[in-house]
Order: sequence, then structure tokens, then C-alpha cells
Amino acid sequence: MLILQDDRIIDAARQQIVAAGLKMIEQKMIAGSWGNLSIKINTSCCAITPSGRSYDSLNTEDIVVVDMQGNKIEGALIPSSETPLHLAVYEAIPEAQAIVHTHSIYASACAAMHKPIPALIEDLVQIIGGSVDVAEYALPGTEALAANAVKALQNKKAALLANHGVVCWGSSLNSALMTAEIVEKAAQIYCICETMGGAKLLPEADIAVMHDFYKQHYSKRQTEKGDEVLG
Ligand SMILES: [Zn+2]
Repeated sequence: MLILQDDRIIDAARQQIVAAGLKMIEQKMIAGSWGNLSIKINTSCCAITPSGRSYDSLNTEDIVVVDMQGNKIEGALIPSSETPLHLAVYEAIPEAQAIVHTHSIYASACAAMHKPIPALIEDLVQIIGGSVDVAEYALPGTEALAANAVKALQNKKAALLANHGVVCWGSSLNSALMTAEIVEKAAQIYCICETMGGAKLLPEADIAVMHDFYKQHYSKRQTEKGDEVLG
């Protein structure tokens, strides 16, 4: 039984997820019902998009609440088929408060080639701290896909899912969405560079400096701004 305070958090999470879904359609990060979003409510449950529903017709009550074993607690619809992926990331990474899984085109292109997105552009390395690595292939919706994704995430906020798409986590839904946008942008730049002789990668020492500055300072400023936008 959820207590009243959790009900308010769930309502807010459902609203954020519906708004984020519309934003992702607008940015062409997802098409139709593919991809999924979730927000951790507390250590025992999360709100997640339903399976097989288009983002442009989602209502707040369509967002499902599941416990951390994947059992439905609230909502009439079936939770996303990628619920095991979301739950595995929350279990492995306690700082993860929200997860965005997309099939955005350029990130998916890299995933289809099984090619990590290298450390080729500053905003990517600020957020990720290096390349976006590729999880070993597994069928969608399986525990194996979830386990492979967790392995590829290591200490990073994003990973490519081989022949499938991308998964990102953040300290808020806004932060996870921003990471998905930056990963997609970096993947597009990488694909362009590959047609023109290849990118020159950033030096390891500079990546560490930029990632550290981002974690210590810049991300906090963005979070304040992001909460105003989505919260
Ligand atoms: Zn997917």
C-alpha cells in the first residue's frame, strides 16, 4: 500500500513522463510506441511507460507503477516490455533516478555497427566521461539484455544496445533526457566524421578534467534549471 506522500510523487512522475514523451517525439528521438521512460519513486517502486502505446496519445493515468521485481502496483495497462532493463539499472546504479531508452537514429546506427561512440566532442565527454560503449546483443525485453546493458554502463550514464538503441540514466528525468540528446548528437557527428576521414579524439587527460568539472559544478547548475522546466 502506497502512502499519501508517494501518491503525490507518483502523480508528478506521471506528468513528467507524459511531457517528456511528447518532447522526445518533437525531437524525433522516438517514433510510435518504441522506446520507454521511467522515474524511480522510491527504493521499492518506479513509474514507467506502458507497452505498445504511442507517446502522442499517452495520458498520465496510462503510466504504470511497478515494484522493483516488476510486479504492477498501479495502472490498467501493461508496463513496458523493457521493464527488466529499467529495474536492472536502478538496482545496479543507486544514483539513477530516471531512465530514458530510445531508438534514436544515429545512436541506433552506431549500435547496429557495434561501434562505440568515441570521445570526439566536448559535451559528450563532460557528461559521459569517455566513449559510449556497446552492450552485447540480446533479444529485446530479456534479462540478458538488461544484464548486458548494466555491464556496458559501468560508471557511465549511457550505453548503446547492440542492433537496438540506447539507454541513458540521470539524477532526474530531465538529466536523462539531456544525456540521450547529447548521445544522439555525438552519434550523428561521429557518423558524419566517418564519411570524411574520421574524427580526431580528445586527449584522455582533458576528458578527465572536463568530466570532473561537469560532475562537480556544471551538472548542478543544469539540474537547478532542469527542475524548473520539468518539475
Ligand atoms: Zn527498445
